[in-house]
Amino acid sequence: MPRFSARWIVAVVLILLVGAFFFCEYLIYFPTILKCAWPKISPARGGGEGIDGRPMDSTVRAMVLSDTHLLGAVGGHWFDKLRREWQMERAFQTALWLLRPEVVFILGDIFDEGKWSSQKHWDDDVRRFHRMFRHSPDTELVVLVGNHDIGFHYEMDWFKLQRFEKVFNASSTRIVTKKGVNFLLVNSVALHGDGCPICQSVEKELIKLSRDLNCSLQNSQSGGGVTDSCEGSQLYPPTSPIMLQHYPLYRVSDAGCTGLDAAPPEERHLLFREKYDVLSKEASQRLLQWFKPRLILSGHTHSGCEVLHDNKYPEISVPSFSWRNRNNPSFILASVSPNSYALSKCFLPEESTVIGVYCSAGACMLLLFLAHCLWMKGLLQCLSLCLLGKHKYL
Ligand SMILES: [Zn+2]
Ligand SMILES: [Zn+2]
Repeated sequence: MPRFSARWIVAVVLILLVGAFFFCEYLIYFPTILKCAWPKISPARGGGEGIDGRPMDSTVRAMVLSDTHLLGAVGGHWFDKLRREWQMERAFQTALWLLRPEVVFILGDIFDEGKWSSQKHWDDDVRRFHRMFRHSPDTELVVLVGNHDIGFHYEMDWFKLQRFEKVFNASSTRIVTKKGVNFLLVNSVALHGDGCPICQSVEKELIKLSRDLNCSLQNSQSGGGVTDSCEGSQLYPPTSPIMLQHYPLYRVSDAGCTGLDAAPPEERHLLFREKYDVLSKEASQRLLQWFKPRLILSGHTHSGCEVLHDNKYPEISVPSFSWRNRNNPSFILASVSPNSYALSKCFLPEESTVIGVYCSAGACMLLLFLAHCLWMKGLLQCLSLCLLGKHKYL
């Protein structure tokens, strides 16, 4: 029978505790993210791969995630905040290290309380965001605006929008071009179409960008001759854009969504509200007509879904990156060339796995403690028998 001495028990408990903690809080991200790889675009469709299996130089490696919801000072419990932010930081830093994306897009709802936080709390949230999502100069981080960052349409104002844009040093509606690929960023919170000053300004910008993109296409088709209506327009690479926004385009519900991270079956048939859960029908149609995007990537629903609009415009709903919103957060890996793209989804460790490892380590510790008690009990019984035996002989 093994000897369960107190020193031995303490050593094993410490090893179990430290081992479980190190595995669950640090190591677990490596094997999970190592399973993910950049998708390959077939050479026939304008892609190709290099010697190391990564997409070739003409392809942009873009990582897309959404709805990080960094908890604020009002609604966030300190432990929840600490845990979720640590998880997201480790997942993000491990993904950067293993996958080396050229650009990372975060599709809005970066902060949970940007819609009402005071300047002091906002500054604190922004500082934590920059620490968690730090990156090397080789990677560009592009952030979109969501309803939790500046408020729903009725809560949004110039102060909150400009505060957000100032942090990320860019307009919330613009085109980011990389290696001949146009990524169109849309401030979808301002697409109510009710003529509010911010809505007017965003629509004006979208109309200008749509004209610029159409003129770029015409310019390339006509071999460089610009028509009068395109005079003064800014030229972009002549390809349809990849459209990125926080709100999904209009869809009735998530009833047609499938996959590991689709909305739970009991929620899939709930009807979406226009301008709240999804964009209005009118705003969605206008965006499709203006830009004819080859792909739409959106967030907001916190669940995954694939939709085909008008039988030709695919949209991917990117689930939340935070374990607070999902048991199985994920992000998208996109290899994009000027003519084509390929997508894959990378799942992060499940929260239930982490809890399972901690519970197993706890159960082992409990068993050891019981074994120790039994051994002690046996020892005591043995001692008392010996003592009693000695008594009898006295
Ligand atoms: Zn959200
Ligand atoms: Zn949202």
